[in-house]
Amino acid sequence: MQEKTLKNIFRENVFNDAVMRERLPKQTYNALRKTIDEGLPLDPKVADVVANAMKDWAIEKGATHFTHWFQPLTGITAEKHESFISPTPDGKVITEFSGKELIKGEPDASSFPSGGLRATFEARGYTAWDCTSPAFVRDNVLYIPTAFCSYTGEALDLKTPLLRSMEALSKEALRVLRLFGNTTSKRVITTVGPEQEYFLIDKKLYEKRKDLILTGRTLFGAKPPKGQEMEDHYFGTIRERVSTFMKELDEELWKLGISAKTEHNEVAPAQHELAPIFNTTNIATDHNQLTMDIMKKVALRNDLVCLLHEKPFAGVNGSGKHNNWSMSTDDGINLLDPGKTPHENAQFLVFLCSVIKAIDEYADLLRVSCATPGNDHRLGANEAPPAIISIFLGDQLTDILEQIGENGGATNSKQGGELKIGVTTLPTLHKDSTDRNRTSPFAFTGNKFEFRMVGSSSSIATANYILNTIVAEVLSEVADRLENATNFDEEVQKILKEIVTNHKRVIFNGNGYSEEWVKEAEKRGLPNISSTVDAIPALLKDKNVKVMEKHGVLSKVELESRYEIMLENYTKTINIEALTMLDIAKRQLLPSVIKFIKEVADSINAAKGTGLDVTVDAQSDLLNEVSSLAAEFKKRIDILENAVNNASNIEGDSFAIAKYYRDEVFVKMSELREIGDKLETLVDADIWPLPTYADMLFYV
Ligand code: ADP
Ligand code: MG
Repeated sequence: MQEKTLKNIFRENVFNDAVMRERLPKQTYNALRKTIDEGLPLDPKVADVVANAMKDWAIEKGATHFTHWFQPLTGITAEKHESFISPTPDGKVITEFSGKELIKGEPDASSFPSGGLRATFEARGYTAWDCTSPAFVRDNVLYIPTAFCSYTGEALDLKTPLLRSMEALSKEALRVLRLFGNTTSKRVITTVGPEQEYFLIDKKLYEKRKDLILTGRTLFGAKPPKGQEMEDHYFGTIRERVSTFMKELDEELWKLGISAKTEHNEVAPAQHELAPIFNTTNIATDHNQLTMDIMKKVALRNDLVCLLHEKPFAGVNGSGKHNNWSMSTDDGINLLDPGKTPHENAQFLVFLCSVIKAIDEYADLLRVSCATPGNDHRLGANEAPPAIISIFLGDQLTDILEQIGENGGATNSKQGGELKIGVTTLPTLHKDSTDRNRTSPFAFTGNKFEFRMVGSSSSIATANYILNTIVAEVLSEVADRLENATNFDEEVQKILKEIVTNHKRVIFNGNGYSEEWVKEAEKRGLPNISSTVDAIPALLKDKNVKVMEKHGVLSKVELESRYEIMLENYTKTINIEALTMLDIAKRQLLPSVIKFIKEVADSINAAKGTGLDVTVDAQSDLLNEVSSLAAEFKKRIDILENAVNNASNIEGDSFAIAKYYRDEVFVKMSELREIGDKLETLVDADIWPLPTYADMLFYV
């Protein structure tokens, strides 16, 4: 693509700042900008003017409809299209779009998960315009990003708590900044660049796999002769079909202002990654949702299917989403950038240590932010970070913190004099020297943290609103103390020393995949929560409810509803997987195996029928082996079926039911798969009804 064309299409379909400046009266533009930049409430009169300009612009872009686009607790996005058409008394139509329609929508909330909130309150739901994320036109529809809540204001979505957490962090971070003498910054913004992993497989093969269609992952599939052991896929040349897909994808994303930047092959065969340039946590979340959706659609157009599941294929790496996170002021200061002067160093160390403390104290909350049944297959499976949350800082920073812990100040390059944190030197950190560890769940990478536990199909909203909130909490504690300190420098020093002493256990620079680390982490008292079901109760722990409530991000009731929804989602997911597995086993695999048995038996009879003295040992052996495996397969089908049927008899709450699904149903599923996969290696390839791993992973 020509550079000129690229420049022209970037943000072409976004109601972006340049468009607003051009189309809105100056006063309206300024009022709207104030709302976007400073979070001030929007004047309804302004909304009418904006709505009208937005409509005209959208219609020029081909839009006939608008939609309030929101992110219910299903984790995907929702939309209902309404046309701009309005009838006139003389039987004609005009196009209309009012400020009211822009600001507020009233979708029927009763079909979205509410985790009991609806029962307690009202069936009605509201969507409210989020003007901090720009509207855009896609497929002839004007999309308006919105927050979704109940009649009484309880959040029914992922965006509301994210926006609330951004406010909370901004407020507390500004308090700290003011104490360090910053008088100019107006807001602190949390930023995120999510690296998205995905698989691409041939559509024709996908269509033959009910498991992929219904559950997003393969429930059967023997290990292929070749996996990822040659390490020849990572950063390898991109095949033509994939490259066509990527080009089309980029173009679509750019038009929507999504700055897709890096694209490459990942570790597993057929696996790829896309990273955008970072944005505010709010916009990055919206963009990531759009990216996932567009990836799927562009893939289909190319006769490919994009798999976003965390573990579509057993035995090769799964997919995640590296959530690169930082905090910046509105005037462009990255608070996790170590900076060059001692003064900046002290401020940097305060922000850095606040993150460290937050991660250690709320590790359980952060863990639950990426707990999904799909992600259970990855975390701790030596391909993704372990389920234990720890922080990688690199040698240089760890050394500095150790000095702080021991002496109360880093003395490294100082020649005598006072040991004050504010005047010690922090050597310039090279980004490269810190980003060498690939096994840590939470790694400092020069001027940001990379949270690597998020699953590939999840919205990044949850991880980020939790991250924002827990860091806001520690910053507020720090601000409380510093505001009341008689000697600022000494108090800073004291706080840092305390944090390092109390929380150094969470810092780990070694190999997170090793057995030793699991033992060491246990000694250090770090939680190792290996399953979603065990992670979820953290949502209701007192300290966690307290922190979410204190910062106005989620109330106890809202947390309870999320707790219910997550457990329900776990149970439903495993239930669907088990039923799909049974369907495939009973109606596809077993019949094929029987057909094959018949073929072998026929061959024995035919050979004997010739009257010649030929051996049928090969057939007999095979017949024996396949027949006994078939018998075992049938037995395990029955066992799994019983386990699923028995679920309705489980007494207890949603937690007990989810636990049953994990300990009984899920275990029986693995047992059934084991035999199915063995059979796959024995049965005639022409008879086996499912495309194999080798077919799917190596033929795109
Ligand atoms: P890698 O992880 O391969 O070293 P980069 O460090 O360049 O790659 O960036 C990875 C992601 O982190 C990109 O999406 C990038 O935009 C994002 N990123 C860079 N700086 C920040 C920041 N200050 N805040 C949030 N994300 C950032
Ligand atoms: Mg990275």
